Formats: sequence, C-alpha cells, structure tokens
Amino acid sequence: MWQVNAQCARHPDPDMWFSPAGTIEHATAVRICRSCSVRRDCAHQGITEPYGIWGGFDQDTLDYLRGYRQPDIVTKQLVDAQLARV
Ligand code: SF4
Repeated sequence: MWQVNAQCARHPDPDMWFSPAGTIEHATAVRICRSCSVRRDCAHQGITEPYGIWGGFDQDTLDYLRGYRQPDIVTKQLVDAQLARV
C-alpha cells in the first residue's frame, strides 16, 4: 500500500490537498507532492478521483489527462509523461 508513505497523510493540514487553485495552500501542497516518494502511484490513483490534488496534479490537469482515455494503461503512460515534465 503506497498510501503509508504519503507525505500528505502525515501533514498537519491534509485539507491543503483540497484547497482551491491560486491559494498558498494549493501551491504548498503541489510543492510537497513533487518530493513525495509515492508520487507516481498517487498520480495514477488520481485519474479516478474526482476531488483533490493527486501526485501534484490538480483536477484541471487530471481532467486534461482524462480527456484521452478512460483509466487504463495508456492514461497511466500519459500521467508518467506529465510527471516527467514538472
Ligand atoms: S504525491 Fe502528494 S497527494 Fe500524493 S501521496 Fe504524495 S503528498 Fe500526497
């Protein structure tokens, strides 16, 4: 279970991962995600999640990734490509 190593699960303010884009809390959550050891697994999970930041991707970015396919291996490859960009 990758979730046991999630940095957000140990953070004193996990609600930051559900904060609106453009806020300090949102930017902080995304920054923390970038150094999280389970970011890849989390981003893959995020494809199927309707709320929150997953793997450092907010729902706008996840919507962009979802636009190609339903959750499947191809979408995960797109997520991996996006992870490599940011
Ligand atoms: S990548 Fe971000 S949202 Fe995902 S487990 Fe890590 S800290 Fe939490």
